[in-house]
Amino acid sequence: MSVRLRYAPSPTGYLHIGNARTALFNYLFAKHYGGEFIIRIEDTDVSRNIEGGEKSQLDNLSWLGIKWDESIDKVGSYGPYSQLERVKEGIYNKYVDILLNSEKAYKCYCTSEELEESAEKQKQSGLIPKYNGKCRNLTTERKAELESSGLEYSVRFKVDVSQVYEWEDIVKNNVSFLGKDVSGDFNILKRDGIPTYNFAVVIDDHLMAISHVLRGEDHISNTPKQIMIYDALNFEKPIFGHMTLIVNAEGKKLSKRDKSIVQFIEEYKDLGYLPDAMFNFIALLGWSPGSEKEIFDIESLINIFDENRLSTSSAKFDINKLTWINNQYIKKMSDTDYLNLVEPFLVESNVTKETLDKICLLYKDQLNYGKEIVELTSMFYNEVNSIEEESLNFIKQEGVKNTIEVFKELLINHETDITAEVIKSLIKNTGKNAEVKGKMLFMPIRIATTGQEHGPDLAESLEILGKEIILKNLNYILSKI
Ligand code: GLU
Repeated sequence: MSVRLRYAPSPTGYLHIGNARTALFNYLFAKHYGGEFIIRIEDTDVSRNIEGGEKSQLDNLSWLGIKWDESIDKVGSYGPYSQLERVKEGIYNKYVDILLNSEKAYKCYCTSEELEESAEKQKQSGLIPKYNGKCRNLTTERKAELESSGLEYSVRFKVDVSQVYEWEDIVKNNVSFLGKDVSGDFNILKRDGIPTYNFAVVIDDHLMAISHVLRGEDHISNTPKQIMIYDALNFEKPIFGHMTLIVNAEGKKLSKRDKSIVQFIEEYKDLGYLPDAMFNFIALLGWSPGSEKEIFDIESLINIFDENRLSTSSAKFDINKLTWINNQYIKKMSDTDYLNLVEPFLVESNVTKETLDKICLLYKDQLNYGKEIVELTSMFYNEVNSIEEESLNFIKQEGVKNTIEVFKELLINHETDITAEVIKSLIKNTGKNAEVKGKMLFMPIRIATTGQEHGPDLAESLEILGKEIILKNLNYILSKI
């Protein structure tokens, strides 16, 4: 069997981490088996499509390194299949007609008011609203009458409530639904002539010869409806897999409205995360490589992908893991690539390019994401004008003021250029003169000169800061003790 998978986004939003994960696993699955991965834009719910939605989906997938096969050329467009285009080509109507002619579907003339009223009544009696079947059993005369009336209609699929719908799911193993629990007769064609999701998805997956449908478990209740259509049209069914959802630290499903977690790929891109690191991180969301190793490039992920290791428990989104992975990739970058990543975040700095390079390189090993450079390097652009309580408590300890003053004296009296080497010897002499060593030597000087307890190599940092700023910082800190 040839392996063909698809990612079928609705352009009703920007590329979200959850969608990106669906696309990524479909891609890995297809490529692992030497198959094809295609994209189909499910844009038939026109009122919900958002401006720029399709572009965001495709641009960000490309950025992540997910490449799709089979672009169809559409002038001014991106190429993947679009359902709306296919509606215009009349692709779905043919199958609606087959189902109508074989009486597996029927035209429904109920108005929205009627449908709402019936749903309301059912709700009041504590039932889950289903279509009440009014148009299913119309007499031949009534049908003919309605047909000639020119009234708008939708087309509904006849659900066999006595059937059981079951399948062997890649992730969930055996899944089954009773026909009576699935839904009432559901629409396959809306009144505006546009097919519904559950119908179009089957026609397209069939026509596009999709072998495996791998998607989020939020679609699991759609699958029995889709199976009914496969069966009614005598289509061979694909193998289904429903991946568990991504949850936050509290175990709750990620909500797009939760602003405490960055969720859109575009935002990660803007923050200076690296695409390979994002790909690596997302691949570990709900899938296990079967070893302790956590850093993988795309090629190795394609090689080791195994659908049997898709997790059956929900995937926890751990931002610390993402920043850790991103940092691993940043450390491995060439200096030039690293500087190209971080320097655009520092456009307002007024130092020379050479100094800027030096400042940025100090942070290469610790940087978690590009934009973090702004906060990390702030001491090079701003004199120290505040101090954290913890640092203040530290410098108020006995003897600390003396250490800082000794260092300040030595610095003032030093007349040649302040290089990293000079700083090192000044620190050493401070230790001798003030009779302190280790943390009680370095920490007072670090806090007093940079305002921070942690940072990159102190001597190199101070060389860049220069004597004048160091002294200003020292004086500010001394004024606080
Ligand atoms: N358009 C659907 C969605 O965005 C696709 C679901 C599927 O993969 O069948 O959720």
